[in-house]
Amino acid sequence: MTGILDYSPDDRYNAFITTCREAPYGDGVLGGVAVAIKDNISTAGIQTTCGSRILEGYIPPYDAYVVELIRKAGAAIVGKTNMDEFGMGSTTETSAFGPTKNPVDPTRVPGGSSGGSAAAVAAGLVPMALGTDTGGSIRCPAAFCGIVGLKPTYGRVSRYGLIAYANSLEQIGPMARTVEDVSRLMSVIARYDPRDSTMLDRPYDHKPSADVKGLRIGIPKEYFGEGVDPRIADTVRDAIGVLEGLGAETVPVSIPGMQHALAAYYVICTSEASSNLARFDGVRYGPAVDTRKTWHEAYQDLRGKLFGAEVRRRIMLGTFALSAGYAGRYYAKAQIARRNIRDDFERAFREVDVIAGPTMPTVAFRLGEKTDPLSMYLSDILTVPANLAGIPAISVPCGKVDGLPVGLQIMGRQFEDERVVDTAYAYE
Ligand code: GLN
Repeated sequence: MTGILDYSPDDRYNAFITTCREAPYGDGVLGGVAVAIKDNISTAGIQTTCGSRILEGYIPPYDAYVVELIRKAGAAIVGKTNMDEFGMGSTTETSAFGPTKNPVDPTRVPGGSSGGSAAAVAAGLVPMALGTDTGGSIRCPAAFCGIVGLKPTYGRVSRYGLIAYANSLEQIGPMARTVEDVSRLMSVIARYDPRDSTMLDRPYDHKPSADVKGLRIGIPKEYFGEGVDPRIADTVRDAIGVLEGLGAETVPVSIPGMQHALAAYYVICTSEASSNLARFDGVRYGPAVDTRKTWHEAYQDLRGKLFGAEVRRRIMLGTFALSAGYAGRYYAKAQIARRNIRDDFERAFREVDVIAGPTMPTVAFRLGEKTDPLSMYLSDILTVPANLAGIPAISVPCGKVDGLPVGLQIMGRQFEDERVVDTAYAYE
């Protein structure tokens, strides 16, 4: 150990659930750098809540592998960031610990579910943070707060120690103010871990290069169509124009399977969540059940009280989608739709090197604006395809509409995270 970082940030945006006033740091590539960690990633000795009352007071006995790697690189883990409960949301308003505010405009949401990580970076409280992205939860808040966020290829970063929401979709990834810092943090966390059976041994060791000469950029019409604010579409087209100015070419492409992307995503993520969240039974973690009651009553009582409305809604949806007689109608069909989207991307990537479009169809919502869950789900339309296909995707700030940040999203072939980073770096 080389020192102790004394960290007491002015957390006026409610970016943190827990802060570590005295955070030890060491030598290494991140020596002495303050890093914030989303509160669904296990940290030995530091409360980890997933933004939920059901895990309030839970202190993990071990570090997630990414946290172990960050500590070994010398960084100081200074706190755990606010998030939508179990990652379920796009605004950070479903957190049991109150919403996070967007530092660019505190009357707005920071996006979600990694809204606390994005706000901590945007407000200058930390230079970098970890988020997780199941259906856009790194890219959405990066876009809304005007920072950079990368969802790595599925299988590139260990999920060991990540408290699961929807395992087949999610990845841990870096968030920072610059592409260079995102790449630096990615180099630390993307290391093979045999404890995550979905990993491939493809470490990321990369210094970004701004050379995009001859790069073929696919422009999917579905990313500029109905539901996308035309001013955002224009801002993103201008950003792609900058890349053309640097020698890239654009090619129109199409992802027709996108028409079923949201339906497939919400069936798959709720199904996986209904199974993953069954472990929160008041016996192993968090507040204890009342053992004088029958098992049924105690379980119902605890989960009914300590899970928020969005989490309960998704457990019910997922349980239904997987139940006998319905699984073929919903879950199996969703898997077919997922396969089609994957195939669409694969076909497009035979013609082009990367695919670009907006990250979000609108700018940051006002706090309290999204009262209808369905309208919140719709805002994920441009981010969920990358999770369904398992491909890398980055969001980089590319201008403003109404004074609020807009994100340019760049997606790439599986395990071509480096190219996605380079394209963003060239633009930046
Ligand atoms: N908004 C999406 C959801 O609610 C994405 C969340 C995430 O990526 N964790 O599921």
